[in-house]
Amino acid sequence: MRYLSTRDNTLRYTAAEAIKQGLSREGGLFLPEQLPRLTAEQLTALQQMSYQDRAVEIMSLFLEDYSREELKSFADAAYGPERFDDPAVAPVRTLDGTTHCLELWHGPTSAFKDMALQMLPHLLYASLGKTGEEKTVCILVATSGDTGKAALEGFRDVDHTRIMVFYPKDGVSAIQKLQMVTQEGGNVGVCAVAGNFDDAQTGVKRIFSDEAMRSALLERGYFLSSANSINWGRVLPQIVYYVSLWCDLTRDGKLGPGEKLNICVPTGNFGNILSAYYAKCMGVPIGKLICASNKNDVLTEFLRTGVYDRNRTFYTTMSPSMDILISSNLERLLYTLSGGNDGEVRGYMEQLNSTGRYQVREEIMEQLRALFWAGSTGEEETQETIRRYYRDRHYLMDTHTAVAAHVLEQYRAQTGDSGPAAVASTASPYKFCNHVLRAIGETPEGDGVELIGQLQKASGMPVPWRLAALGSKEVRFTQTVEKQEMEQAVRDFLR
Ligand SMILES: *Cc1c(COP(=O)(O)O)cnc(C)c1O
Repeated sequence: MRYLSTRDNTLRYTAAEAIKQGLSREGGLFLPEQLPRLTAEQLTALQQMSYQDRAVEIMSLFLEDYSREELKSFADAAYGPERFDDPAVAPVRTLDGTTHCLELWHGPTSAFKDMALQMLPHLLYASLGKTGEEKTVCILVATSGDTGKAALEGFRDVDHTRIMVFYPKDGVSAIQKLQMVTQEGGNVGVCAVAGNFDDAQTGVKRIFSDEAMRSALLERGYFLSSANSINWGRVLPQIVYYVSLWCDLTRDGKLGPGEKLNICVPTGNFGNILSAYYAKCMGVPIGKLICASNKNDVLTEFLRTGVYDRNRTFYTTMSPSMDILISSNLERLLYTLSGGNDGEVRGYMEQLNSTGRYQVREEIMEQLRALFWAGSTGEEETQETIRRYYRDRHYLMDTHTAVAAHVLEQYRAQTGDSGPAAVASTASPYKFCNHVLRAIGETPEGDGVELIGQLQKASGMPVPWRLAALGSKEVRFTQTVEKQEMEQAVRDFLR
């Protein structure tokens, strides 16, 4: 299977090339030429398999240039017991007869980014060999919190890779910061930027497009790549857990034969929900794809009206990983729904760049309406939802998951569709202790790791051991740079 670019579909790449490059040269995103379909027999066979084996079966359909043995060893390493604290890897909790929660945060950093970022380094490292690359890849990441730590943990001590993460000095939570500055590994670097997330992101993009910098690094034996969610190697591992979700529910008799499952996803960059869409396209009986946003509701408006408009107030919320105004992965959906029209996609993206706005044509809008439903949730409703699920079902959820749980309620109330549904749970409640404590009626005492103990005492829920151990870890990275010093920081790192 070959890969094409959403902005130029005359080009063809192998999977290894697409994963190594991350982004196509003209700015488009890589997409498989066509999506494989799972037959009924294949779906049945998957039900009896472990998560790791399901990953091999599904990923091998997309990665013809990777052998099954390779994929098996990657899946065992990425999703093994040293990495994930639940043998099911992505366990499904049933909250009531028709509502399920897909927990995607049992990996090393307690956020759903681990599901893909534990796998991507294996795929990327193998891609170097497959494409005859002899240089060392340097991954640059700008993070608003979860991606940076998950990428560091995934790439630490992987041969022929270095990774450097920039985070906004005052823009991440105390726990997220501690997770990053205590990162272990001989090939990692972490640096604070005096500025906000946009400053860090802009700095990284500037480094990527700086030809002088690129050639200087090439001379030293390095090339730059990205681990952010536009890389196909991050989207693909996410398809696996939606197939796995359906397998578990069907195997356990919680979903009848032929019954469709609605899926509600707390959405930022549109990568997670896009993977659910691909699982549906592959033949998994998925009903509506419900897109949940916080106060930054650019996607809600888009999916309801067909107008994408980033010219709006940016809100900082208690679900920071969804505080996003440009959802990059939407581009892949637009390509498919336009019938593979690369010129049309290019047009929308140029408009987004120049005016911050575009409107899709009616034929695309009709498909969006049929596939998706969208809603957004404010801060108070988010906390109220955490409180209610905790009180009524003794289920503790984080702020991102609560946004989705609330939007699912909106969907059911407004459409009357009360069929089986799953919420994607994207972070452990222990990553956002202060908001979760307040939601369940406690007053946070202290900051950062101190609150982990308090939340544990109040809720009795087990603490992910890596978060519990954070307080006693050595701080390794203390550097803060101005925005214009980021290039130099990378040069120093790769000396
Ligand atoms: C990244 C993230 C999201 C948003 O996922 P996208 O794939 O960007 O839509 C939601 N919740 C948490 C906790 C995250 O870390």
